[in-house]
Amino acid sequence: MAPTAAEQTEHHQHTRKAVGLAARDDAGHLSPLAITRRSTGDDDVVIKILYCGICHSDLHALKNDWKNSRYPMIPGHEIAGEVTEVGKNVSKFKAGDRVGVGCMVNSCRSCESCDKGFENHCPGMILTYNSVDVDGTVTYGGYSSMVVVHERFVVRFPDAMPLDKGAPLLCAGITVYSPMKYHGLNVPGLHLGVLGLGGLGHVAVKFGKAFGMKVTVISSSPGKKEEALGRLGADAFIVSKDADEMKAAMSTMDGIINTVSANIPLTPLFGLLKPNGKMIMVGLPEKPIEIPPFVLVATNKTLAGSIIGGMSDTQEMLDLAAKHGVTADIEVVGAEYVNTALERLAKNDVRYRFVIDIGNTLDKVAATTE
Ligand code: NAP
Ligand code: ZN
Ligand code: ZN
Repeated sequence: MAPTAAEQTEHHQHTRKAVGLAARDDAGHLSPLAITRRSTGDDDVVIKILYCGICHSDLHALKNDWKNSRYPMIPGHEIAGEVTEVGKNVSKFKAGDRVGVGCMVNSCRSCESCDKGFENHCPGMILTYNSVDVDGTVTYGGYSSMVVVHERFVVRFPDAMPLDKGAPLLCAGITVYSPMKYHGLNVPGLHLGVLGLGGLGHVAVKFGKAFGMKVTVISSSPGKKEEALGRLGADAFIVSKDADEMKAAMSTMDGIINTVSANIPLTPLFGLLKPNGKMIMVGLPEKPIEIPPFVLVATNKTLAGSIIGGMSDTQEMLDLAAKHGVTADIEVVGAEYVNTALERLAKNDVRYRFVIDIGNTLDKVAATTE
C-alpha cells in the first residue's frame, strides 16, 4: 500500500537532508553531494559534524586501492562534533554534548567479539563509510554536515580534549593505542620503534612517551628529524635508508608499530628488533608483503596485525590522551581545500594530519557549487 500524504510528510520531516563531499569514481575527486540521513532511531545519536580528520585510509578508499570501493563515496572516519538530538533509549548522551565517531557505526552487538568489547572484530561490523548499512544503503562518512549513529559507537570528548586536535584520535589514535595495549608495548622503559611518521605514527610517538617508553622513529623523511626529536618528544630518529644508522640500532627494539602506507622492504626492519621482538602492522599497503621465513624464525620474531580498536578501548584511549595531553598535530583546512589536501597527503606533505573544518566551511562550498 502506498504511504498516505500524511505519512510521507512525517517521513520527510524525520529523514534529514545533509550534504557531503563525494567522489563519483576512483579518480577520487570530491565535490558536494546532497544526501539524506536516516530518522533518529530509539538508540541513535544525531551529530552535527564540526571537524573531520583526513586519514590515509580515505585516500586508499577513494582511489580504490583495496578494490572494494563503492561510489559515490563520502569518506571520513575521524569525526568530532556536537549532539543535536538523541533517540528515546539513549541515556549516555544529550543535545549539546561534544562527541566523536571513528571507523565503525554499528556491529551485530551480540557475537563473542562484540560481547568482549571488540566490535572491530565483529563479522557484522558496519564501517562509517563504504559499508552496507542494516537498511541496505551504503554508509557515508564524516566529510559531511551530520551523521546518525547508534549510541554504542559514539564516544564522549573529555572537557580537556579539543574537537579539532582530538578528531584524528578517533582513527589514528585508537589504531596505535590498541596494539600498544594488547601487545604489551605500553610498558615504561621498553623500546618502541615507530615506523612511518605520519598521522598514525606521530600519535604513536606521543602515546609511547606518555607510557614512559623509549621511542625511536624510523622514517624515510630526514626532514622530519628535528620535529620528531623536538616537538614530538621522540628519543631517537633513524633514517631507514641510512645503512649506518640502521646498523647502529640493530637488535635494540622490543616492538615496532608499522604505520607505512606503501609497500617497502620489511626485512631490514626486523633486524632492529631484539629476539622475541614484535612488529605490528597497522599500515595497509596495496600489495602483499614479502618476508623470508628466516627473518621471523631465526630469533623468534612476531609479525602481527591490528585493526582500529573496540569502543570501550576508544573511550579509554580518548580519556587517557586528554589526561596526558596527547593530541594530533593538525593543519586545519576548509572544505574547499579538501582535494588539494588529499593530493598533498599522497605526497607525504602534511605535518601530521589534515582536519577539515566542516562546521565553518562545508555549507559555503555546497552553496557555491549547487
Ligand atoms: P600518513 O599520514 O600518510 O602516514 C604514512 C607514513 O608512512 C608517511 O608519513 C611516511 O612516513 C610513510 N611512508 C609513506 N609512503 C612511504 C614510502 N613510499 N616509503 C617509506 N615510507 C613511506 O598515513 P596514516 O593516515 O598514518 O595511515 C598509515 C597507514 O595505516 C595507511 O595505509 C592507512 O590505510 C592505514 N590505517 C590502518 C588502520 C588500521 O586499523 N589498521 C587504521 C588507520 C589507517 P615517513 O615520512 O616518516 O617515512
Ligand atoms: Zn583511518
Ligand atoms: Zn558482533
